[in-house]
Amino acid sequence: MDFTPTREAALARLAAFLPAAGRRYAETRNADDGPRPGGRSNVSQLSPWLHAGVIGETEVLEAVLSEHSPRAAEKFITEVFWRIYFKGYLEQRPAIWDDYCKGRDNALAALAGNAGLRKAFTEASEGRTGIEAFDVWARELAGTGYLHNHARMWFASIWIFTLKLDWRLGADFFLKHLIDGDAASNTLSWRWVAGLHTRGKHYLARADNIARYTAGRPEGALAAARLAGDEAEPLTEPHDYARQTLDLPRPVTAAELAQPFALLLHDEAAHHAPLALPASPALVIGAERSAARSPGGAGRHAQAFAQGALAGGMTSGAAAFGCPAAQWRAGAPLAPLLVAAGVERIAVPFLPAGWTRDALWPDLAPLAAAGRIITLLGDLDRATWPLAKAGFFPVAKAIDALIAECAIQGRAVPVSTGN
Ligand SMILES: Cc1cc2nc3c(=O)[nH]c(=O)nc-3n(C[C@H](O)[C@H](O)[C@H](O)COP(=O)(O)OP(=O)(O)OC[C@H]3O[C@@H](n4cnc5c(N)ncnc54)[C@H](O)[C@@H]3O)c2cc1C
Repeated sequence: MDFTPTREAALARLAAFLPAAGRRYAETRNADDGPRPGGRSNVSQLSPWLHAGVIGETEVLEAVLSEHSPRAAEKFITEVFWRIYFKGYLEQRPAIWDDYCKGRDNALAALAGNAGLRKAFTEASEGRTGIEAFDVWARELAGTGYLHNHARMWFASIWIFTLKLDWRLGADFFLKHLIDGDAASNTLSWRWVAGLHTRGKHYLARADNIARYTAGRPEGALAAARLAGDEAEPLTEPHDYARQTLDLPRPVTAAELAQPFALLLHDEAAHHAPLALPASPALVIGAERSAARSPGGAGRHAQAFAQGALAGGMTSGAAAFGCPAAQWRAGAPLAPLLVAAGVERIAVPFLPAGWTRDALWPDLAPLAAAGRIITLLGDLDRATWPLAKAGFFPVAKAIDALIAECAIQGRAVPVSTGN
């Protein structure tokens, strides 16, 4: 699969996948058929573009509903809501992310002082454990920047329960290499596999299940001998994470953007189109910081995609709004860019809990305190996140209502104009 980091490529992939997003998706989505030059046929592989904000969830749902009834596309639509749910959940428990970072750093430090552990970790991340399926996925992840959902579940389970490695090292390995590496979906999915998200309910990989759902891979079904059995216990932690109240920004009006302003694009909002801005900025700023995903930086596919998406987003924004575009690296002064463009305020797409916020907020917080930041948040996130208080069920139950509330209805895949 060619993950070209442009909006044109995202829309082309969406259009190509659309016929399969209905009942066929529900029936076939669990199969890991391996990497395919033209992309997998049973899953959309849209996650890299969705994560980077090159395409939005609303656009994807509209396109799907233009070809399928809500019932026929129920499974696909539900999966898109899992992404939104995880974002809303982490937003209400940001301490999970902070503790993950601390635990990851401690686990990395422990590796440095323990040769046996270091060997086990290196074998796992280089795909040299002797567990065929696991080794194939480790190499596939580093080699392509993508893994099928089921493979992610099996891989995480084997990492935690068979290889008995620290889950945070595995989550870091994923974040580094996955093009779609997302603080919320990744951290919370690893916690789910471990039995920490739904307390006491862990996910155990089984060889027969792996063989069944990998039978369509070019090399044939993958073997997974000597996996941890049913006696493996879920992980535990000493405390629950208290939920904090969401304080979400209101929809932004054209009146609030009447004075010249800059639009800041970042790693999770790299293109202006999904933002549906009510006014045109006088400057587009690109703030790429994909290296902040992991202490080890971003893997080559993840980094190339993030850099390409932001470079393309800046060019498209400048062309669409007829304004200049400038790159800004967090830590460098931002004021000269704003002064040169004659703007006071910056419209910033919501910085979600995780590495994107960690990387950019220290520089933006003083501007926010001075009332110079206008935060942009899409209607779908604003409506869904308050329901992501605990389990997924309240979100799942409300999907039809959320779609109606956000006026999402069948609409053909947008035609890309190149900007
Ligand atoms: C251990 C583990 C780690 C993961 N890490 C990430 C991550 O860093 N970033 C990420 O985007 N997803 C992550 N996922 C979720 C899921 O695996 C991917 O979103 C999905 O595989 C992307 O492929 P796709 O676009 O073909 O999905 P499709 O099946 O085509 O689904 C359409 C879209 O729905 C969303 N989606 C689908 N399944 C899930 C899910 N289980 N959770 C959340 N959103 C979902 C994605 O945005 C996806 O693009 C992780 C899952 C596990 C088990």
